[in-house]
Amino acid sequence: MPRNATSATLFTGGKLWSPAEWAAPRAADLLVRNGRIVALGTDLAQPADADVVDLAGGTLLPAFADGHAHPLQAGLEALFAPVRGESIESILTGVREWATEHPDAEWIYGGGFDLTLASGGVFDSHWLDAVVADRPVVLHAMDYHTLWCNSEALRRAGLNSDTPEPADGDIVRRPDGSPIGTLREWGATDPVFAVMPEQDPEQQVRAIDRATKLCAAAGLTWIQDAWVDPADAHAYVAAAARGALNIRVNLALRVDPATWRVQVPNFTGLRQHVDDIGYPRLTARTVKFFVDGVIESGTAAMLEPYLDCAHSRGLPNWQQGELVAAVAAFSAAGFQAHLHAIGDAAIRSALDAVEASADVIARGDLRPVIAHLQVIDPADLGRFSELGVIACFQPLWAQPDSTQEVLTTPRIGPERAALQYPMGTLSTAGALLSFGSDWPVTDLAPLAGIATAVTRQTPAGEPEGGWYPHERMDLRAALRAYTRGTAALGFRDDAGLLEPGSVADLVWLGVDLTTSTAATVGQLRESPVLGTWLAGERI
Ligand SMILES: [Zn+2]
Repeated sequence: MPRNATSATLFTGGKLWSPAEWAAPRAADLLVRNGRIVALGTDLAQPADADVVDLAGGTLLPAFADGHAHPLQAGLEALFAPVRGESIESILTGVREWATEHPDAEWIYGGGFDLTLASGGVFDSHWLDAVVADRPVVLHAMDYHTLWCNSEALRRAGLNSDTPEPADGDIVRRPDGSPIGTLREWGATDPVFAVMPEQDPEQQVRAIDRATKLCAAAGLTWIQDAWVDPADAHAYVAAAARGALNIRVNLALRVDPATWRVQVPNFTGLRQHVDDIGYPRLTARTVKFFVDGVIESGTAAMLEPYLDCAHSRGLPNWQQGELVAAVAAFSAAGFQAHLHAIGDAAIRSALDAVEASADVIARGDLRPVIAHLQVIDPADLGRFSELGVIACFQPLWAQPDSTQEVLTTPRIGPERAALQYPMGTLSTAGALLSFGSDWPVTDLAPLAGIATAVTRQTPAGEPEGGWYPHERMDLRAALRAYTRGTAALGFRDDAGLLEPGSVADLVWLGVDLTTSTAATVGQLRESPVLGTWLAGERI
């Protein structure tokens, strides 16, 4: 018999944990009917029409939800040349093999290469020419703000030694003035985007299908695409129409500092279009602001100068007055603001912009979000709960890596470095925390993020005791952020809980979480996700 949302399912033989409400897992059964939880208790009678799932000693939780990721981008990356290798040679091999296997592809793309593989992050077009010379090759770096192009791509984009230096970008050049093949930020990359063919809609639907299947396999039933342009929104609509949206997705439409005034009516129309079609898995109620850049490239907006460049405090993307006006306008139009803010100055600007619209935000229950939150000035910590701002952290980032050691700590110094990702402090200060992966920038798996939030260690267990260990979270708080916290961010007040009436979005882990201790919680990274249910349907 095919499964559908009207069937009943009895979960038995394991533990249940609703981390937002219960201090610890409980041995109990759970009954789902018509897509909702209808009963919990020990030894529930099995209705005649119910399927039974034996949890085999594992734990059933509310399904995970990801507050900040880029699933369309991740799905496309998997369809293009593989460039996430650990050496320049392996990237070039991936490009050559993909090009050979796809003789009809007019352009060759790849995404996610590691900028630290070449000295100074400078990648040469000639290296790519050696593997593909007759077709344009365009590769995105892991930060998605840098392109590496071959000579044919540069030629088609009209970039040569006569091209003037753009105001808001960096064309890295050879001694003779010709572009070397590395393009940084919008002003330098736009000429390439302008000549690239539009993404094939078929390919976008395939990418969304693949990405949302990977989400289901990771235990997620909801994800926010945190950077959506109108063409991407139409791809999601097409995917929903084709049955290729395998989990729930909310779209965060990217606000442009130069054109936001015309975006207000355009995005309102787009949201209406998505609502009118009426796919329950797809919503578009959020707008995304990039308030600043990133610390490792010196573009995060800081209150005090960078140590390696005494006159620079980074690069805010918005004039404060414009940010305040744009947050006010989109809030008045009923959108939730989702603000990328990394440096302490950017986080303060974002909080100030939210504060300026506090009345309209409260009236509309608009739940503003600040994402990433790398360095928060201690004076601003209390403002999150005061203003009702949801803190969306990427817990996998709270561990030392080469970027931290080589770029971040030297740029900001030890005192500011110790303030990074204050998840423990904000959590105990009463702020509402949500978690996200930023996939494909970092790994999708919620369990890896949860293990990192609790240990603040690398998978190898470094450093002993944890990285800035005063900001470690307990397991319950970390699970809550990836379930109930993100459900609140997504306006899903009937999700992220195990209680009668809640939506039956569930995840089954092959581990008994009552036996997880501080010493073993790192092993959660390897724990299997055995099943995921969306509104009672196993996906
Ligand atoms: Zn992101």
